[in-house]
Amino acid sequence: MTQSVTTCDFCGRQEQDEAKTLTWSISVENGRRRTYCDTCSRANLRAMEGKLDSEYW
Ligand SMILES: [Zn+2]
Repeated sequence: MTQSVTTCDFCGRQEQDEAKTLTWSISVENGRRRTYCDTCSRANLRAMEGKLDSEYW
């Protein structure tokens, strides 16, 4: 059996449990695939939608 590890491209969090990565989001930015964990994808979504100040990070 092959087990793939999903790594968050923002915080570097790693998750082996596929069920948990279902809530993660994958977006393609400038041709590169970016994977965000549930926490980061939520924050990232807010940042993208509202173009919030970078100090939010
Ligand atoms: Zn993350």
